[in-house]
Amino acid sequence: MAKPKNKSQTQPVFPQYKGVEELIPQVYSITTFGNVGFIVTEEGVVVVDTAIHQFGELIRNDIRKVTDAPIHSIIYTHGHYDHAFGVWALLKEAEERGDPKPRIIAHENVVKRFNRYQELQGQQEFINRIQFSVPDGTSAVPKEYHYPDLTYHDRLSFRLGGLTFELRFGMGETDDATWIWIPEKKVIFSGDFLLWSFPNLGNPFKVQRYETEWADALEQMASLHPQILVPGHGPVIRGEKIKKVCLNTARALRYLHEEVVKRLNQGAWIEQILEEVQLPEDLAKKSYLAPIYGCPTFAIHAIYRRYAGWYDGNPSHLFPSKTADIAKEIVNLTGTEALLNRAKALKEAGEIQLALHLVDFIIYNPETADLKEAHELKAELLQAKAEQTTSFIARNIFLNGARREYQLAK
Ligand SMILES: [Zn+2]
Repeated sequence: MAKPKNKSQTQPVFPQYKGVEELIPQVYSITTFGNVGFIVTEEGVVVVDTAIHQFGELIRNDIRKVTDAPIHSIIYTHGHYDHAFGVWALLKEAEERGDPKPRIIAHENVVKRFNRYQELQGQQEFINRIQFSVPDGTSAVPKEYHYPDLTYHDRLSFRLGGLTFELRFGMGETDDATWIWIPEKKVIFSGDFLLWSFPNLGNPFKVQRYETEWADALEQMASLHPQILVPGHGPVIRGEKIKKVCLNTARALRYLHEEVVKRLNQGAWIEQILEEVQLPEDLAKKSYLAPIYGCPTFAIHAIYRRYAGWYDGNPSHLFPSKTADIAKEIVNLTGTEALLNRAKALKEAGEIQLALHLVDFIIYNPETADLKEAHELKAELLQAKAEQTTSFIARNIFLNGARREYQLAK
């Protein structure tokens, strides 16, 4: 998907393809987008996740470097595009080899997710193009869905080739998540409950996510004393570090939940909550909680949205005037030039966000005669915002906006 554009984008959340690695006998991982795991048993191979559609053949080839055994089961940790869509290559191979069709296992909500994706295909295409900075001419969503053959509600466990595969349902980044525990090997496949970034709890484009249930799942994982944990993205975690990563991530999620809920109970509105709540410094410093994909600000929005409505507390905003009408009133009072000059001065002073608000009055005023300079300034401001932000999602929103403004300035 998106190619790293600068240093902060080369963090582990979008690793280079690293090929197949034997973690311990029988257990392998393929570090890619997203990670794939597979376990080779005497009765066949169990595959955990299948990455994005484009990596299907790559994964099949990696598995075949290690074993010739048929694929028995494929588990989706959730139904996101980067986990459940490289599967086609494994199904095609089984058919070509004359193997029985691998059984796909997932949580029952994956079915609902796939149905929703198909109903909202146009919207998914539109928002993913921005979120992942997908170039024009490339589809931002897969068109081919392979539904699970076996679903479960809370827990599912099966034995294969002397190993136990315990599938546990959890909610976090999605409402259809499975994490897998293999007790004989002390291995966990966590899916996107962990991915070497601050949890993507509040994606600005996407449906509700679940902070306390996310923490529950991470605490359950830690309680099993795993020796190896394969996250949804990024490097495999081993030994004592697993517990620290799980419990500190859970602590971060619980902290934000408690701080937002406390303020809701005190009658605070979203602006005040965003102003006041920050991650404690010891957690903010952890490399695996760095805001390189999601970020705490987005998480706070998500927690607020979960427990409150969209009203921001100002009755003026309940049935607001059109942005264009407000802009016209402001520009008529100040004049375009004064606003533009002030926006430039704010930019020079490093007040990029304030400058954006001012330049918007000019852009949204339907009577502005020449918009070129305002569009150019807005593009530069958005470019500056992109450079200041470490969150991949936020940066892509700014860069997408900057491109649009440059086009409008032409
Ligand atoms: Zn993922």
